[in-house]
Amino acid sequence: MSAAPERERVRLGDLTTLKVGGPAELWLVEHTDDIVEATREPFRVLGAGSNLFVADEGVPERVVRLGRTFSTLDEMDGRTDLWLGAATPVPGLVRRAQRLGLSGLEGLLGIPAVLGGAVAMNAGTRFGQLSDTLREVELVVDGAPERLPAAALGLGYRRSALPTGAVVTRVRLTLTPSTPERVAAAMVAVDAARTGQPKVKSAGCAFKNPEGDVGAGALIDRAGLKGLRIGDAMVAHEHGNFIVNHAHASAGDVLALIEAIRARVPVPLELEWRRWGLPGGDPPFPGHFLGHAVTGSVRAHAR
Ligand SMILES: Cc1cc2nc3c(=O)[nH]c(=O)nc-3n(C[C@H](O)[C@H](O)[C@H](O)COP(=O)(O)OP(=O)(O)OC[C@H]3O[C@@H](n4cnc5c(N)ncnc54)[C@H](O)[C@@H]3O)c2cc1C
Repeated sequence: MSAAPERERVRLGDLTTLKVGGPAELWLVEHTDDIVEATREPFRVLGAGSNLFVADEGVPERVVRLGRTFSTLDEMDGRTDLWLGAATPVPGLVRRAQRLGLSGLEGLLGIPAVLGGAVAMNAGTRFGQLSDTLREVELVVDGAPERLPAAALGLGYRRSALPTGAVVTRVRLTLTPSTPERVAAAMVAVDAARTGQPKVKSAGCAFKNPEGDVGAGALIDRAGLKGLRIGDAMVAHEHGNFIVNHAHASAGDVLALIEAIRARVPVPLELEWRRWGLPGGDPPFPGHFLGHAVTGSVRAHAR
């Protein structure tokens, strides 16, 4: 049995890349037992906070985040079949795979996620997404560890259908043998596609690309909205689909800007960001009431 999970009052804006959002109680968990304990009451799960837009009021629920013990490369099954902790930072993993001459993660270059968040969002670019290499995940659901194949996760364009209240703890990826040179060459195109992105505080692309040939960024650009600013929130000059926080943007500034964009773009735009404590945002997960015994072994899910 581990020590009790570490709890701390935090400003969520400090833990997100957009830097917007108020207070919450952070539960930093280092063991599966901690997750079981932390998820007894209503909760939310935080990864690297790079796709999150949080209310100025924060959220009243527990915010569960995986600690360092979930970021180790803790099992290798051959060279290409890897089990990785869900708190593993994606940028370092992509670089490491390149050095080892393993292909499959090039499309994730430049995505500032941890693996758990990358699974939840099926992160990627037009050069490839996590589902290309994802085989299985381990997660804690309803206080019990489980293992699910990737096919059961409903992975699509920037979405997943994880079981309600699932906390992903480990991820199994299968990469393809290549050479460091070839992987690096494939990354050049991915990197080049990012050159136009702003370097200031953001949460990545704000809107999903709608059906059709024209992306959300191009639609916003065509509507002449680059540079549109409300308070400290602004449509980036470099890329129409990036809303940036120039200094101290409030959630209200960002919401007003989103509405101003929607009012002037002729196609309905759906937000790609997850939203906490905001209209139309994600509800918290209910806590589980009957704690299951945690044995250390993981139940394979028969689906
Ligand atoms: C500069 C910049 C560039 C970006 N470029 C891209 C891009 O090219 N492609 C792309 O897809 N995205 C991009 N993003 C967005 C973002 O990086 C991805 O959506 C990423 O997958 C979010 O991962 P995260 O760890 O930050 O998750 P968070 O933002 O912390 O959370 C996102 C969702 O995942 C859930 N979650 C997090 N961890 C877990 C877990 N362990 N178990 C269960 N659920 C969990 C959260 O509850 C939340 O619903 C970009 C963001 C920035 C700031």
